[in-house]
Amino acid sequence: DPRLQGISDAIRVVPHFPKPGIMFNDITPLLLRPGVFKDAVDMFVERYRGMGIAAVAGIEARGFIFGPAIALAIGAKFIPLRKPKKLPGDVFSESYALEYGTDCLEMHVGAIEPGERAVVVDDLVATGGTLSAAIKLLERAGADVVECACVIGLPKFKVPLFFFFFFCRGQPIYS
Ligand code: IMP
Repeated sequence: DPRLQGISDAIRVVPHFPKPGIMFNDITPLLLRPGVFKDAVDMFVERYRGMGIAAVAGIEARGFIFGPAIALAIGAKFIPLRKPKKLPGDVFSESYALEYGTDCLEMHVGAIEPGERAVVVDDLVATGGTLSAAIKLLERAGADVVECACVIGLPKFKVPLFFFFFFCRGQPIYS
């Protein structure tokens, strides 16, 4: 798809951020180019429109940039998956391992009904640990997680730019 080059060109890699040794993929230049931002959202929308998706779940914080735009365009609700102690109501929590330490995602109880079809959106996938926690949260509420989608897949994890993450009998498949 010719739009991929523009998306790729609009992502900036910042060395040693937020810590020495980390190459940080920054999507903010993409947001400054409305045509490219629209291309990225459109590519997700084209994939998910007409698939009976009831909910787009976005991961804090950069999943909140792409997720709502996709949800509105496909007529789905948007569910924020937040860091701990940010949501005021009853929550499901899911802890997950990071390279150093752990983190946690939370979702409001009642955000999704059993059997509803959901897509998880974030800016970037590296190990897939964050997406896995998001899937577990949604599945705990009985949701049917159809796919995960991110704008960036890190090459060292052999995930291409703009990838879709399918689930086939519990095994992830990249496309
Ligand atoms: P994973 O759990 O290892 O797949 O890491 C993905 C999570 O870390 C996502 O929520 C990303 O937003 C965040 N992340 C990791 N590296 C970067 C980066 O280089 N840029 C932006 N976000 C990153």
